[in-house]
Amino acid sequence: MRILSIKTAKRIEMVDITGDVRTIIREEGFVDGLCHLFVPHTTAALTINENADPAVCRDILNHLSRLVPPSSPYDHREGNADAHIKSSLVGPSETLIVEGGRLVLGTWQALFFCEFDGPRERKVFVKLLPKG
Ligand code: ZN
Repeated sequence: MRILSIKTAKRIEMVDITGDVRTIIREEGFVDGLCHLFVPHTTAALTINENADPAVCRDILNHLSRLVPPSSPYDHREGNADAHIKSSLVGPSETLIVEGGRLVLGTWQALFFCEFDGPRERKVFVKLLPKG
């Protein structure tokens, strides 16, 4: 397993990690199979969406925050209940196809690390599963 280290800069942001994952695939000489990614954090997540227009990420984050406001009468006393809820809504993992040494994504797609309680030092676990 490889571990990707990410240093986030804001409380809430989406960081495009597609290039980092492509680098791992290349370094490992991985050609054919699945690339499973898992975030071992309770206030962060992974998602795949558009990276062409940055307004898409802004809309995702703004609407998540409207859905789950930072301050609300939450029971969790740590002050980051919204981050826990956003993390569960978006989800901790993604599985991508690797074929011919290339990560298979749609033209407009990118893989994003979603920070909901930053800035922090974060990790993404990357497991490459060979075909057959
Ligand atoms: Zn908490």
